[in-house]
Amino acid sequence: MFTRPGRVPGDLALVLGPVAGLWAGVGRASTCRWLAAAVRTELARVRGLVGGEVAERVLAERLERRLLLERGRPVVGLQGWLMSRGLPQRPGCWSHVCDDGVRMDTGGGCASCDSLVGDRRAVRRAVAVEVAQEMPGVSAEVRRGEAERRLHHQVQVRAAADAVRHKRAAAERAVREEAVERRRRERAVAERERVSAPCEECGVAEAAGLCLVCSARRRTGELLREAVDVTVALRADLGDRAAVGELTERVAADTRLLLDGVCGRSAGVPEAAVLAFDQSTVAGRILAGRRAAALKRLAGGEEAEAEAERAFEAAMRRQHRYPTRGMALSAAQKAADAAREAAAGALLRERLGDLARLRGRPVAERAGWRVRCGERAGRPPAGDAAAGAGGLVGMGRVGAA
Ligand SMILES: [Zn+2]
Ligand SMILES: [Zn+2]
Repeated sequence: MFTRPGRVPGDLALVLGPVAGLWAGVGRASTCRWLAAAVRTELARVRGLVGGEVAERVLAERLERRLLLERGRPVVGLQGWLMSRGLPQRPGCWSHVCDDGVRMDTGGGCASCDSLVGDRRAVRRAVAVEVAQEMPGVSAEVRRGEAERRLHHQVQVRAAADAVRHKRAAAERAVREEAVERRRRERAVAERERVSAPCEECGVAEAAGLCLVCSARRRTGELLREAVDVTVALRADLGDRAAVGELTERVAADTRLLLDGVCGRSAGVPEAAVLAFDQSTVAGRILAGRRAAALKRLAGGEEAEAEAERAFEAAMRRQHRYPTRGMALSAAQKAADAAREAAAGALLRERLGDLARLRGRPVAERAGWRVRCGERAGRPPAGDAAAGAGGLVGMGRVGAA
């Protein structure tokens, strides 16, 4: 691989990061190539142990730890230092992923090292035995000195490992915190932009897109349109587009007059905001009144009446489930009322749907009234008549064991 003299090879930039400043001292190009090959060999071995994604970092951290162990002594001759001290794995225990008491795969402390080491006294004993075996025939004083030196070295190794581990944990935490803070700032900016958007109707500033007054006016407009629709749906021949248009205009004008009349009765000239809120409240009342009147009228009609009768009869066929005939009658009456009410609601929804289609507005599709009646006509008469008209299955079963 071609590399500018003095520069760490590109593919080893991360691994050799801790010693990058020393690379120029290696000297001859052939030595650099040879040394880089040795590092790549170790990297490949570490990859086999911990996987490709983390191997480079693991090796870089190893070099960093070993540099810390020099305690500020300058590294003279990177080549020799790397081969003897920097590069080789030094497991503290039997584990093949252990290096200086750090687990290479997780980056955490090595548990088997910890259990091996046990407490400080056990280490002391282990080192003393080791020294006694390796240095037979020397004085106790010399052995003690050597044991102390080795213990001291072990402490340093663990301390260096801890330092690197903490540094990495702190860096990872900083990255996480930075990401959290960045998201918080982005949300704050978005929220400021949302709130500061002017009203799209009247242009007043800082209105989050629509000011309260214009929002009340819009709501009034929607409620009035619905109120007009309820009246038109009930009174117009929905097959005659022209007649529907004409009636809509008339009803809309009347409804507006009604609204202005009710809201204009208050003393003095109200502020624009007060008027807007008043109007939306009144418009809501007008719509509720029209719906109630429409439902009442539809509930008195032939179709709802037929539904109520069917429900009553179906309930009476189950009268044997009630202790007395009086209770059965009362339950049947309740079922009939519910069926009548549900039928009126379904009829109104269907007419409003037809009107919306006529006006080219989107309609939430649901099974039409007549379609459902037709389906029911095909079912055996034992069916619960109230069920189809509003999901009232179970009504009138009071007292049934
Ligand atoms: Zn270990
Ligand atoms: Zn506005």
